[in-house]
Amino acid sequence: MNASTIKPRVAVHKFSSCDGCQLALLNLGEDLLTLAERVELVHFAEAGPLNPDTDVDIAFVEGSVSTPEDLERIQHIRAHSRMLIAIGACATSGGIQGLRNNADGAQWIAQIYSHPEAIASLQHSTPIARHVKVDFELWGCPVNSRQMLAVVNALLLGVAPRDNADKVCTECKRHGYPCVMVTRGIPCMGPVTRAGCGALCPGLGRDCYGCYGPAENANTDALAAQFAHLGLTPPAVAQRFQSINSQAPVFLAAAGKAQAIRDE
Ligand code: SF4
Ligand code: SF4
Ligand code: SF4
Repeated sequence: MNASTIKPRVAVHKFSSCDGCQLALLNLGEDLLTLAERVELVHFAEAGPLNPDTDVDIAFVEGSVSTPEDLERIQHIRAHSRMLIAIGACATSGGIQGLRNNADGAQWIAQIYSHPEAIASLQHSTPIARHVKVDFELWGCPVNSRQMLAVVNALLLGVAPRDNADKVCTECKRHGYPCVMVTRGIPCMGPVTRAGCGALCPGLGRDCYGCYGPAENANTDALAAQFAHLGLTPPAVAQRFQSINSQAPVFLAAAGKAQAIRDE
């Protein structure tokens, strides 16, 4: 085969997750068909191809590391992938399942399952980058299809994908959406949350709850003060940071500060 006709080999792997970020890839629709002409999709269980152990050029990884099996498998995938892209809040911050990191997970399992010994679960749910080198992180719960396509296109062109770590507020302004915090006094996480969704929630007249994780230079102290000014109690302020990306260090610290005020 002529070298110019060799297509990059791509795999999509699932760890501890809900599959929603893989759906973002499937939701590309016609673009996915076009993409399939430019890459060789060698492993994507949700779409059909199964070959999890093969060498690939690009591995997309959805989900957090939260079981002993995850721990082993991520090392194997890293060793067999030229580029590894973590997609979604689970893979970049530990996800909603990371809420158990501050609790007694074993106690929860004992309360829920009749045979807790059958559950193999680590005490903590952790992001992929905690365990192996990650070449690029795409945040969001879920990531959106447009972002996925942009990343794949950049990689196929051999350039670094664009990392938009600006705040949701910038997208809100760009779209001309009225600010729900200023006009209606609704506490909104947009000032500290990473852009990428197109300010989806404010565009529908509701607050951002931070699903894209922390933006760069996120001033969580100022936002926590604003939340308090709007009438939120310290536990309620902490809760705003303890959502889908609760284990992202910036949000974890902000929640800790609010809890410390409550405990004073
Ligand atoms: S980031 Fe959200 S949508 Fe994506 S796999 Fe995790 S829970 Fe599902
Ligand atoms: S609605 Fe939220 S995201 Fe939009 S400008 Fe106001 S604070 Fe920022
Ligand atoms: S506005 Fe906030 S919560 Fe809504 S999709 Fe965007 S980042 Fe997620």
